[in-house]
Amino acid sequence: MSNTPKALTIAGSDSGGGAGIQADLKTFQELGAYGMSVITAVTAQNTKGVQNIHAIPVEMVADQLKSIADDLRPESLKTGMLFSAEIIEAVSSHIEEYQWTNVVVDPVMIAKGGSELLKKDAIEALKKHLLPLADILTPNIPEAEQLTGRKIENKQDREDAAKFLHGLGAKKIVIKGGHLPNENEPVDLYYDGERMIEFEGKRIITTQTHGTGCTFAAAITAELAVGKSPIEAVETAKTFIQEAISAPLHLGSGHGPTNHWA
Ligand code: PLP
Repeated sequence: MSNTPKALTIAGSDSGGGAGIQADLKTFQELGAYGMSVITAVTAQNTKGVQNIHAIPVEMVADQLKSIADDLRPESLKTGMLFSAEIIEAVSSHIEEYQWTNVVVDPVMIAKGGSELLKKDAIEALKKHLLPLADILTPNIPEAEQLTGRKIENKQDREDAAKFLHGLGAKKIVIKGGHLPNENEPVDLYYDGERMIEFEGKRIITTQTHGTGCTFAAAITAELAVGKSPIEAVETAKTFIQEAISAPLHLGSGHGPTNHWA
């Protein structure tokens, strides 16, 4: 038996290659994990935006999960775009049934261009079914606001939100600082139920940030697959994403992708 670390992404496809499944698999490869995928939705998308979304029937999502479980146990997994309450419920019940561990939940809701990647009525399902399974939950500030139902305006609010999300069952939370006002450095806040740790970053003003959230969570997932601790995984992911944003590829005419080779 090979001991190659295997990481699974359960997410949506981005035809433009910058976010979703495509970003996840590129990141897994760069960080030394063998990548597997369960596709929940297909988006017609490029750097200009999302032109169309087709959800995969829930039975087919379940069949992809079953095929993996029957043969290939992932050392870690991440969830991204799940789109609907029924897909969230199916994914959550299968993760539980298969007792998969090292679960990273990126609560993807809205693309930077405004397209809805998670239906509004699915947020409750995410809180109820998936958050309790999350070893690491990685919301940005708008997502943390949606999940907590509270406005986040300062450091105290972020700490309170992290505690609230821990109360919903997520074991560790990273509230990403990218959406802080531009005059602030993008400090990520990590909370594991005991410690609040700040991960500092450098603000880079650029439009070339498509897929940063997916890439950050995928980097954590790859690091967990290769046996790193959650804190080491978040540290590496922060460096990886910082470098990816620092060396843009300038592809397409719009909101270009992060550079997974950086
Ligand atoms: N498309 C898919 C399939 C995604 O999973 C995501 C993010 O999670 C996006 C688009 C959004 O990308 P961004 O908001 O970084 O442009």
